[in-house]
Amino acid sequence: MSAPVPGGAGDPSGVVVAVDIGGTKIAAGIVGRDLAIRGHARVATPARDGSAAIVAAVAELVTTVLAGEPGLRPLAVGIGTAGTVDVRAGRIVAATDTLRGWAGTDLAAEVSLALARVGGPPVVVQNDVDAHAWGEAARGAAAGYPSALVVAVGTGIGAGILIDTATGQTPLRGAHHGGGDLAHVPASGAEHLRCTCGRAGHLEAIGSGIGLHQHYVSLSGDRNAADAREVAARATAGNAHAARAIAESAAAVGRGIAAAVAILDPAAVVVSGSVPSIGAAWWEPMVAALRAELTDDRRDLPVLHGALGGDAPLVGAAAHAWAFLDHAAGPAGPPASTAPPGAPASTAPPGPSDTNGVPA
Ligand SMILES: [Zn+2]
Repeated sequence: MSAPVPGGAGDPSGVVVAVDIGGTKIAAGIVGRDLAIRGHARVATPARDGSAAIVAAVAELVTTVLAGEPGLRPLAVGIGTAGTVDVRAGRIVAATDTLRGWAGTDLAAEVSLALARVGGPPVVVQNDVDAHAWGEAARGAAAGYPSALVVAVGTGIGAGILIDTATGQTPLRGAHHGGGDLAHVPASGAEHLRCTCGRAGHLEAIGSGIGLHQHYVSLSGDRNAADAREVAARATAGNAHAARAIAESAAAVGRGIAAAVAILDPAAVVVSGSVPSIGAAWWEPMVAALRAELTDDRRDLPVLHGALGGDAPLVGAAAHAWAFLDHAAGPAGPPASTAPPGAPASTAPPGPSDTNGVPA
């Protein structure tokens, strides 16, 4: 073992800063090697103000959490964000209107540049569902399993796939930056519902929180329930349409997960998000529908609640940053993306790595 390089990944004063950019809030924290988060801070996302405002808010939040613990060196920043991310380039390639002007943002380069006053640390970026999955695999419900499928069911629905955690926990990114995109799996029973992609009958159209609400409206004709939370409240109060909408939405999610399990054969499935927090009225029909489709060899498949809650994306973003630093310190030398802040990340040559040099 060689001595730690001052300021390098082996330097005990070195930390990474993890950031989670969502549609309503941006969260950040300082994270050491143990992946424990400290110095939590959050601000409202300036979602209507364009990408420059979001980048500025991220930089200010990172600076704020570092100011809370003087003497620490930010070696890297890991970001999980809403939107489809080209991880290798650190760029947002597609996003919904939730974050205005987000698509096309060179997020890694712009945040690094905006952090010049704290040394312009390298920045790595991934989708927030992938970050969530990586977090649950590294320190949460899926820790210790050799592979995992981690599903997040909230306003939308998505998944992160950890194929082989023994050789590095990088989520499957996919050829079009959409690995694990469970949202657009065909779902029987959703043919009457329009998906966010514009097609009919996809899992997100019935299985997400918005989908559950839409399914309730289609069953009941009641447009007075504002969202899935209100549908759940109606079900608790004895509304049969609401109870049916929850059970059918949950079952659709279970069958969608079963399809992914058939293909991937993961060692564990983790399910979390705001919709599962409805409770047994959602969880039980989801698991029943999932287990009904599993082949006999997978009957003991663990189906687990997420363990980290809202911290999961921060833990996964930090794990990404540490993996980046480890790779940079490795015998192969620094990856292409350790180019100076502001240098175009797209100059990185294609190679056998998915993310700024982190092994795939
Ligand atoms: Zn779709």
